[in-house]
Amino acid sequence: MNIHEYQGKEILRSYGVSVPEGKPVFSAEEAVKAAKDLGKDVVVVKAQIHAGGRGKAGGVKIAKSIAEVEKYAKELLGKVLVTKQTGPEGKKVNRLLIEAGCKIGRELYLSFTTDRNTAQTVMIGSEAGGMEIEEVASSTPDKIIKEYIDPFIGLAPFQARRMAFKLNIEPAVVNKAAALMMGLYKVYVDKDCSLAEINPLVITEDKNVMALDVKLNFDDSALFRHPDISALRDESEEDPKEREAAALGLNYVNLGGNVACMVNGAGLAMATVDIIKHYGGEPANFLDVGGQGSAEDDAKAFKIMTEDGQAKGIFVNIFGGINKCDIIAEGIIEANKMLSLKIPIVVRLDGTNVKEGREILKKANIPNVIMVESMTEGAEKVVELVKKA
Ligand code: ADP
Ligand code: MG
Repeated sequence: MNIHEYQGKEILRSYGVSVPEGKPVFSAEEAVKAAKDLGKDVVVVKAQIHAGGRGKAGGVKIAKSIAEVEKYAKELLGKVLVTKQTGPEGKKVNRLLIEAGCKIGRELYLSFTTDRNTAQTVMIGSEAGGMEIEEVASSTPDKIIKEYIDPFIGLAPFQARRMAFKLNIEPAVVNKAAALMMGLYKVYVDKDCSLAEINPLVITEDKNVMALDVKLNFDDSALFRHPDISALRDESEEDPKEREAAALGLNYVNLGGNVACMVNGAGLAMATVDIIKHYGGEPANFLDVGGQGSAEDDAKAFKIMTEDGQAKGIFVNIFGGINKCDIIAEGIIEANKMLSLKIPIVVRLDGTNVKEGREILKKANIPNVIMVESMTEGAEKVVELVKKA
């Protein structure tokens, strides 16, 4: 789960991590009042959406007067902001953060996340802050500094200081920077984050260390023990189809191509996406139906996968374990009828009750349902059919 920048900053503040003074607002009037309350010469008006890259997209405005705050607030509220992270459809701005302007000396990058190769938390730092860190990591990997954290010891103070020195933070500021790292690490662990990222982490002209931006991602599986975090959920920021699927206990991920994939299990989902790519196709999405559902559930799954018209074909790739192939077959027939689907549905079934499942589909003899023997054959077929469509 993601939260907004201003919510993240409130959490950081409660852990003693220094952030600029600021307040979230929902209207231009509130923005003006918040700016007056701040009483600073420079106020920053920041669009609050669940995506980064706002600065370059015009979502972060520096205002030098109350009149400017009002102008920028009116400009940004209700606007659809398209950033490198939103996708072409962009995200609508419903909230702003009105924040004290900060005199930036240097902009650095700092984050904590899980390194899957070492199965450890890693602290990542870079002097190339403020910019897109993914680009820094791929084009100049030597600019990325890492500290691996022993899960039993936690982040050791010497590691924080070592990071500060490697970031060329001047000696007078090293302790402040190290304290911030310790604070952010505590947030990361206490709140079960999957990512805690500060970009930029700034050294101010008056030698303070501050988080000017923060992105916190939380492990969904741990949310049950953080009601305070769950309460910060902003559903208007989430993909409505992913929400709809989650409500049905299904995992849906939108991928932007034109081959919809209905699978069971995360591993098979990955393999299916890979094999479609291998045959030159582009997955539109995948929907993991998990364990056994009813035919009606399958129909709902098909609806979610196809309703935006993006998918030009469906690949059903199910290995029946808990799922039974005959029930899946009935589900496909039912869904096809209910939704009057016209696009080809390529079906690969294997595992429990596969004979019965295939028999059912054969008998039904539906023109747009094509049965295949293997996953390879299915992927090749669906890509071929979609290309013709
Ligand atoms: P994003 O990562 O979405 O582009 P940021 O919050 O990182 O948004 O802001 C982009 C840039 O705007 C920062 O790198 C910084 O230079 C500037 N900025 C953001 N907040 C402030 C602030 N409070 N005072 C001064 N400059 C700021
Ligand atoms: Mg940023």
